[in-house]
Amino acid sequence: MDISLDLAGRRVLVFGGALAARRVLARFLAAEAIVYLASVPVDGHPPERPHPQVRPVEYPHFPHGWRDLVSAVDLVVLVEVSAATERIIVDACASQRVWLSREPAASVAPLGRVTLVGGGPGDDGLLTMAAVQALRDADIVFYDKLSPHDRLDEWCPGAEHVDVGKTPGHHATPQAEIERMLVDSALAGLTVVRLKGGDPFVFGRGGEEVVACREAGVPVTVISGVTSAISVPAAAGIPVTHRDLSRVFTVLSGHAPLSENELAHLAGLGGTIVVLMGIGTLPHLTAGLARHGMRTDMPVAIVEQGFSAQQRTTKARLDTITPLAAKLGARSPAVLVIGEVVRLSEHDDAASDELLQAIASNAEH
Ligand code: SAH
Repeated sequence: MDISLDLAGRRVLVFGGALAARRVLARFLAAEAIVYLASVPVDGHPPERPHPQVRPVEYPHFPHGWRDLVSAVDLVVLVEVSAATERIIVDACASQRVWLSREPAASVAPLGRVTLVGGGPGDDGLLTMAAVQALRDADIVFYDKLSPHDRLDEWCPGAEHVDVGKTPGHHATPQAEIERMLVDSALAGLTVVRLKGGDPFVFGRGGEEVVACREAGVPVTVISGVTSAISVPAAAGIPVTHRDLSRVFTVLSGHAPLSENELAHLAGLGGTIVVLMGIGTLPHLTAGLARHGMRTDMPVAIVEQGFSAQQRTTKARLDTITPLAAKLGARSPAVLVIGEVVRLSEHDDAASDELLQAIASNAEH
């Protein structure tokens, strides 16, 4: 069941410690509910300070007080209570016909943790369920420009969102600074999410962030994401492999130009070449591959702004793509695909129909 309630102006009573219930409180405050918190002080712990908008209430001193307490609100939420108290509250809610829900407690360990989350190529539907869950649990989210961050308010209401935005060619926050912020937040006890575009380990500097956390003794986990290297070509109808056509695909970064040696091996490898961050070095790459023997009529596609309303696919040949891209003003973010598979993309010309027929008749034999 997937129910969403309009909680604006509704009274919600949460049971649990301010720290353990902090994510739940943040969510209800973000939903504009009037939020009350009933917590028993834990011996030996300093009193926890809830959010200033949360109204503290005391546990009732008399048995009938529970009924009065729950009947004064619209919703009761159990986060952390003893089994005995839970039974009393459940009975009181049942007799007063008050809605009751249970929500998980957030970590109260003095040491927090970091989760690197791959957010996919920008389409909400390509965010994994693990990613959504991690966002929901987060106290603080550090996100990139290319990550799907438009709906963070919905996915992790009440969490702090920090833009460490990397627009192409412009690193707003230096990598070392990002790593320091991740580590410091976790050392302060927070549940930290680092939200990245695509997959954290595909040209995402995720490995460096994992190492930084480990060196600082901060627990760190990684949630893989759908990489643009595969999904953006797919969004343009291009499969990176295809039976009888391509049995290798190589993913490379075009951030810096390849060496002659690399170009020679790449041209000799066959299959599909997928380039991320490749707009700037496109002339160098196409000329280099041709110089090392790649057919000049090899199909090439540039898929810009995959999964957005502005998605655009430009197709040409190895020897014509560079002037065409310049003429059309092709820009980052874009994924470049070089290989026969480009012919399989949608809206293709007669040449691709011929090729498709050849493949089909091959498969029959
Ligand atoms: N970790 C990411 C890649 C980071 S490098 C991943 O796995 O997808 C950033 C590059 O990814 C961009 O320069 C572009 O080449 C590519 N990219 C990411 N999202 C894209 C999108 N929606 N459309 C086109 N290219 C994209």
